[in-house]
Amino acid sequence: MDAHHTWFITGCSTGIGRALAFAVAAAGHRVVATARRPETLDELVVTYPQTVLALPLDVTDPGQIEAARDAALEWLGDEGLDVLVNNAGIGYFSTIEESEQADVETMMDINFWGAANVTRAFLPHLRERRAGNIVTVSSIAGVRGSAGLGYYCATKFAVSGFMEALAAEVAHLGLRVTVVEPGPIDTLWIPSGKKQHHVAPDYAEVMEPYWNRIDNLPGNQPGTPEALAEAVVTLVASPEPPLHFIAGKHALAGTREKLERLGADVDAWEELTVSVDRR
Ligand code: NDP
Repeated sequence: MDAHHTWFITGCSTGIGRALAFAVAAAGHRVVATARRPETLDELVVTYPQTVLALPLDVTDPGQIEAARDAALEWLGDEGLDVLVNNAGIGYFSTIEESEQADVETMMDINFWGAANVTRAFLPHLRERRAGNIVTVSSIAGVRGSAGLGYYCATKFAVSGFMEALAAEVAHLGLRVTVVEPGPIDTLWIPSGKKQHHVAPDYAEVMEPYWNRIDNLPGNQPGTPEALAEAVVTLVASPEPPLHFIAGKHALAGTREKLERLGADVDAWEELTVSVDRR
């Protein structure tokens, strides 16, 4: 891919999306930065008036997805789109049993359906071009399940599985799919996610240390959105970007733990595993 390419990013108002939009624009690329509150993009547009297009996009609104896709492709013209980044997402902190159904459905609409529908909207264009990257910000929570994040994990496992399947469908068309799995990054993700504090005393043993960690994490997360943004720029510039990219030491330790546990289960039960087959 050329040194300069074109990007479309969701959820650019704050955090990782905003840092990525700034990093990409600073590197001289053309960026379609989207946000459900487009006024949050004013500083970006004022800083890079020639190379940034700001568009309103709530990823749960199919009409807005179509309108943003059409406006982006018109603005990009013959260059077309090189890199799609699904970044928009929210958190929800609760035990599974005590989660509110409406809240977790809203989160699934944003974290899974948002990324799936935005990607699908761009697929005909990307497919026709026979080149491009689809980058999705999942989470370490999409690699291994953890207490207090059950439904969030479900949204991120869903999007990771979807993107793995997509990679298998479009690799031969020149499209590279990367799922980014960060650990804690210093953004508004914890402060703005809804917290449903546990009530049932049976959960206290697991959830009290959990709330303590969640309350103390904002501002102390090891990862920064700026460093993650630079890593994404590096991945996209690579001729062979990975299907999974683990971001940060916490996510690295979690991923290794997951692999070890999976490997141990596979090995310990191999005999019973193969007994299921006729031959
Ligand atoms: P932020 O809360 O700072 O940013 C989230 C972004 O998503 C905001 O721009 C927000 O817009 C946007 N968003 C939320 N709902 C919608 C929607 N319906 N349509 C369009 N945009 C929407 O957190 P992060 O930057 O950390 O989050 C970015 C991604 O990173 C998310 O997918 C998150 O799950 C993931 N992640 C974050 C980690 C962390 O520790 N921070 C760790 C692992 C993954 P608005 O300002 O309008 O709400």
